[in-house]
Amino acid sequence: MIINRPSPFGAAHQTPKRIIVHAMSEWINGMYAPDFLLSVGLSAHALVTPDGDIIKCREDTQGAFHAKGFNTNSLGIEFLLPGHNDYGSFLDGIARPGWVSEPQLLAGARWIAEWMARWNITQIDGHCDVDPARKKDPGRGFPWDTLRAAL
Ligand SMILES: [Zn+2]
Repeated sequence: MIINRPSPFGAAHQTPKRIIVHAMSEWINGMYAPDFLLSVGLSAHALVTPDGDIIKCREDTQGAFHAKGFNTNSLGIEFLLPGHNDYGSFLDGIARPGWVSEPQLLAGARWIAEWMARWNITQIDGHCDVDPARKKDPGRGFPWDTLRAAL
């Protein structure tokens, strides 16, 4: 299922050249992930829930505030770590293999594959790859091999 939750945060226009994969907690400070992003003025193009739903927040041709230095030339997708987490339990959670559910991985892979085809993109990185000093997501437990095999 695709759930539209438009966010006002991000540049009005962009041409996406790369995809950046993120992770964030499904719930933070009592707020559902898309509401948390709104509360702090951040955004991503899509969030993938543990059930395999896609929450669409920005159009591809709009920027999003998801990765410092890449907010006007990339598409950002957030895989949601189930449940309520503080930053410590979030970091522990995304380091644990198996945290991404099968429907979540399939839905995310389908979304990423559509982006790759639509925008002729081959560059896919984790947030930690483009901002290693500040970011750990999507985490050591993220199933990159399974994702790449599904693309
Ligand atoms: Zn991130």
